[in-house]
Amino acid sequence: MAAIQTEWTKSSWKNYTALQQPKWPDQQKLDKVLADLAELPPLVFAGEIRTLKEGLAKAVTGDAFLLQGGDCSEDFSKVNATNIRETLKVLLQMAVVLTYAGEKPVIKVGRIAGQFAKPRSSDTENVDGVEIASYRGDMVNTLEPTKEGRKPNPKLMLKGYYLAASTLNLLRAFTRGGYAALTRVQAWNHEFVAQSPMGRSYDRLARQIDQAINFMNTIGVPTDTPQLNQTQFFTSHEALLLGYEEAMTRVDSTSGGCYDCSAHMLWIGERTRQVDGAHVEFLRGVLNPIGIKIGPTSKLDDVKRLIEILNPDNEAGRLTLITRFGKNNIETVLPALLRESKKEGFNIVWSCDPMHANTYTAESGHKTRNYNDILSEISRFFEIHWAEGTIPGGIHLEMTGDNVTECIGGARNIADAELHRRYNTSCDPRLNAEQSLEVAFQIADMIKR
Ligand code: PEP
Ligand code: MN
Repeated sequence: MAAIQTEWTKSSWKNYTALQQPKWPDQQKLDKVLADLAELPPLVFAGEIRTLKEGLAKAVTGDAFLLQGGDCSEDFSKVNATNIRETLKVLLQMAVVLTYAGEKPVIKVGRIAGQFAKPRSSDTENVDGVEIASYRGDMVNTLEPTKEGRKPNPKLMLKGYYLAASTLNLLRAFTRGGYAALTRVQAWNHEFVAQSPMGRSYDRLARQIDQAINFMNTIGVPTDTPQLNQTQFFTSHEALLLGYEEAMTRVDSTSGGCYDCSAHMLWIGERTRQVDGAHVEFLRGVLNPIGIKIGPTSKLDDVKRLIEILNPDNEAGRLTLITRFGKNNIETVLPALLRESKKEGFNIVWSCDPMHANTYTAESGHKTRNYNDILSEISRFFEIHWAEGTIPGGIHLEMTGDNVTECIGGARNIADAELHRRYNTSCDPRLNAEQSLEVAFQIADMIKR
């Protein structure tokens, strides 16, 4: 394999080892789909991407907070107005809770409108004694546990593109067209959450915001401003399928730089962050904000190399390190990383993913996570940052606006035996709307000035 740092092009990743790529059965069909994608309009625009980067630069210094969340894996069959609205609603609620407590802007980034490809620990799984290929996300194959269902089909990438476009269209309408106006905070409460302790806390806060707006109105401060009536919402997904990401990469006419226009922010997963791997090579050349998942087995030197390769100019807002160590390992790994980064003066948004290293299989056989473990990793994340004098800049969650039973615990104390009731995820277990709001209230206590 070529040594890293030869000249970057949007296809130079092909000279490196690309892990976790589907074994597409038909090269010609794949090439046709990628050529079609390359002709289609970008999903997001360079100007929006730059705005996100400016916001993230503020999260580096603690002057903003990153809230990133959504499905582990978006399901094509569930891309509809209700689900998009419910996910947006809970993210807006969480953002309000955090903004109010932290007195700083909250940057809202969905794992949405393109989170359709999944890395897997194993290439195959055993279904009733038959070994079949693993599910790799709706943009690659289907959940149907048959050999045929698991065959990669490049046309699914085109379908993913169109579904991402229609999701984005609705998100833009909701966030720009008045739905997200701060005068409507009370209306974002989900029916099934409203009567819970979390719902009531939220309602109290919403009333305070209403009062503040009414007060401004009364004394003549204009309240029909975009600051109150609109909000910015950004999209993100794991940049896993490099062919797709390459096809969505465009030269920006303003700056002359290359942007991956499939989403505002892209991240490199724990399984594909090799210093000399194709994912790192591809992402080093696009100008989007980039996240890197950092797990418990990461080596300090590798993380430093990644930072140097992906952000050679130490630009603030370019790089977010999404740590996912697990509640038992965060203590042993995070402090050294923070000390080294501080010593080097790296500009990093430190974000906590308290989900991925706290997963286990429940007695019922469901893959789950315990609310208390999630909270415990978040609390340790904040405490360690405080102790090291560094900035806890964000949170990365798998969550949904739906009333699912996928993670145990939380205010309603979902039990192992209840997981089967509404276990709807196609991949990892998500916090439901109430549990998500509860996390936001807990973080609110930690980010209060
Ligand atoms: C994910 O975010 O769904 C994921 C697979 O995470 P990680 O790469 O951290 O394991
Ligand atoms: Mn996941």
